[in-house]
Amino acid sequence: MPPSTDYSNGVAYAGGHYVPISEAAIPITDWGFLRSDATYDVVTVWEGAYFRLDAHLERFMRSCKRWRLDPGLDATQITDVLSQCVRLSGLRAAYVEMVCTRGKPPWGSRDPRLAKNQFFAFAVPYVWLANARQRESGLHVMVSGVQRISPRSVDPTAKNYHWNDLTMGLFEALDAGADSVLLVDAAGNVIEGPGFNVFCVTGGAVVTPNEGMLEGVSRRTVIEMARSLGLEVQLRALPPDELRAADEVFLSTSGGGVLPVTMLDQRVIGHGKPGPVTCRLVETYWAWHADPAYSRPIDYSL
Ligand SMILES: *Cc1c(COP(=O)(O)O)cnc(C)c1O
Repeated sequence: MPPSTDYSNGVAYAGGHYVPISEAAIPITDWGFLRSDATYDVVTVWEGAYFRLDAHLERFMRSCKRWRLDPGLDATQITDVLSQCVRLSGLRAAYVEMVCTRGKPPWGSRDPRLAKNQFFAFAVPYVWLANARQRESGLHVMVSGVQRISPRSVDPTAKNYHWNDLTMGLFEALDAGADSVLLVDAAGNVIEGPGFNVFCVTGGAVVTPNEGMLEGVSRRTVIEMARSLGLEVQLRALPPDELRAADEVFLSTSGGGVLPVTMLDQRVIGHGKPGPVTCRLVETYWAWHADPAYSRPIDYSL
């Protein structure tokens, strides 16, 4: 079979080459695969422009440093690779992931310092963590009994693939008929879910956890939007009971921005439909995509 040149489902950069997403592969001996020893970040492209690329690059570089990984490229070179993936795919709305893996140490050695780290990237069609119906009527989310891995074990502020806790929680929630899951910390407070941060609106204030979770770029965007709309923002521990009793609950993620939650466990939130603060934040989130302060157009000419 001749190699495919159909880039329309997405494009990956692997082993120094650009290939259709379905043909991209990593060596099976890479510790990224064998040990989840990798870091990554995801930036989105909307209407042909990156949203907050600088924030994602900065976080990726920080995550690399935290895990003693060297992608071998600087931020400008990474941007060139990401843009080439997007350009080849022709996608105007894309989910663009950059990954740095440990690679492998010389055969027989277990010294991570000797591993040659590898850089991968790909652009695929925009990923929504909630489908159109869920965005319209709100998600049903379950608070899991699964505890998020301790910050004393794995630094949650640096992106990582230690996702077994999140994935097991997701199985639990889906089996129970919910759409997604929120994990708790050792004190029982709600922390985050698989790829998203969590917020509630109580007494007019917007509340989100401030410790033990990945500091999402979307979370930062929500905090900045809320302040610019004149809303009070509280960064503090969020007990599940406060979340269940909240006027509004929503999630933030690069996979769809601000996503309303209208059912938590078996409790209806607010009036069972996305609340007014959530709706204003959804609107503002998409409006900010046109703001040159956050948006960077991609040159699609090949
Ligand atoms: C990436 C991620 C998020 C969300 O981050 P965004 O930058 O807003 O997309 C939240 N939690 C975890 C565990 C993540 O990996």
